[in-house]
Amino acid sequence: RRSFATQRFFSSHSPVSVRQTNLLINGQFVPAASGKTFDTFNPATEAKIASIAHAGTEDVDDAVHAARKAFDEGPWRTMDGSERASLMRKFADLIEKNKDELAALEALDNGKPCSVAKAADLNLAIKCIRYYAGWADKITGKTVPIDGDFFCYTKEEPVGVCAQIIPWNFPILMAAWKLGPLLATGCTSILKPAEQTPLTALRLGELIVEAGFPKGVVNIIPGEGATTGRHLAQHPGVDKVAFTGSTEVGFEIMRQSHPNNLKRVTLELGGKSANIIMDDADIDLAVAQSNVGLFFNMGQCCIAGSRVFVHEAIYDEFIKKAADRASKGVVGDPFGANTTQGPQVNEEQFHKILNYIETAKKEGATLLTGGKRRGNKGWFIEPTVFADVEDHMTIAKEEIFGPVMAILKFKTIDEVIERANASEYGLGAGVVTNSVDNAMKFTKGLRAGTVYVNCYDVFDAAAPFGGFKNSGIGRELGENGLRPYLENKTVIIKA
Ligand code: NAD
Repeated sequence: RRSFATQRFFSSHSPVSVRQTNLLINGQFVPAASGKTFDTFNPATEAKIASIAHAGTEDVDDAVHAARKAFDEGPWRTMDGSERASLMRKFADLIEKNKDELAALEALDNGKPCSVAKAADLNLAIKCIRYYAGWADKITGKTVPIDGDFFCYTKEEPVGVCAQIIPWNFPILMAAWKLGPLLATGCTSILKPAEQTPLTALRLGELIVEAGFPKGVVNIIPGEGATTGRHLAQHPGVDKVAFTGSTEVGFEIMRQSHPNNLKRVTLELGGKSANIIMDDADIDLAVAQSNVGLFFNMGQCCIAGSRVFVHEAIYDEFIKKAADRASKGVVGDPFGANTTQGPQVNEEQFHKILNYIETAKKEGATLLTGGKRRGNKGWFIEPTVFADVEDHMTIAKEEIFGPVMAILKFKTIDEVIERANASEYGLGAGVVTNSVDNAMKFTKGLRAGTVYVNCYDVFDAAAPFGGFKNSGIGRELGENGLRPYLENKTVIIKA
């Protein structure tokens, strides 16, 4: 393949240039075999940022082959854990060194405020890689006392070649959540970033090369879901698929596994998380907590607290304050110093959200604030709050993935737990209460992977994350996040 000179694109809106637009396969940046590209856009201006190599079937095959070879022939799989850890630490240091640039690239491609990308996404990504570097030489088995004259022990070995398919809402952080446990365990990756936001993954690829990982350990192949993603998820050379994205595609991935190869599958999917405000709550804390829980990242969070259940005794005061708080969100240029809310990621999401707003009005919810596009360029939507939402309404059931808060009223704890659990999803839940008794009842009763009490959207590399029910299979982060990348081996020796 002819290798292109690095293309450089400058945006009038940001201080950052795009350095890398090619695929990372077997330690080299190469254009697509077909020569095809796709464009990525700045959601704040609608302007094209760059043309990116579009991985086709041949490229996916090459990337799987490279990952297979790197896994099967080493030196990666047999490398000392401490050596893998030191490469990972180098990688984390390089991300830190290039933090400003990566945050700006993320803001440019995704639309999130640059200051938030730097403080949240980048810091969490760096901590995630460092956290898992700590595990690389601490993955142990057990000795097992079995009957007879035998010595029995277990070992944990890497599962192999992993397809890692990630979404556009937290591009760099999702890459870190996938690569951290993969690198610690000695697996190899074909990472497919979302087609809406390929830029930071490719820049991370450059840092992976710079850190000195053996070639083929991490391959990065941007492309569309229905073509590149599907071919990758079905590939017989892949041992495991780790996917984050919509529940619909999650189901498809479960069905798609190649008939001759029983892939391990972990899924981190959608949610419709309940956030419950009790009558004993500190109301200002509740308003602030529910605002973060819903509006963080323009509402584009799988764990967004998108059903806010408020006790009837404080309902009127809460809805007034929640609407007031939401209307003070600073919507605008992701590079603006005070911006709290940038644009939605693309036109498709923008229209989908505006449609949900229209449906909510038609179904009888009360619009308290927002509800419209902001400006006439870029995919900006006003922070929107609906009160008097009822369980049967569309916005109480479907994932909106936008800055639209739905407030529902409740009377009793048993009633609200039942209503909160009456969802196909079970990713997260929140509770605001000053009563330990009530907190205990909720943390026991709510069927969700994470339950926040008097806080929301707290993430830590050590705290497992994932969903009950149709919100997913398996967990990421923490020790639990290592398990899906490991196979148990039992050894029995005649003593
Ligand atoms: P998606 O599920 O279509 O895309 C996620 C990733 O999967 C992307 O990399 C995409 O290219 C890939 N993909 C798509 N179809 C595939 C297929 N058939 N086989 C293999 N890979 C495939 O999500 P989306 O279209 O970007 O967003 C749609 C909705 O998904 C959103 O509105 C939101 O509700 C939800 N979503 C959830 C999360 C989350 O973190 N749980 C993240 C993004 C989007």
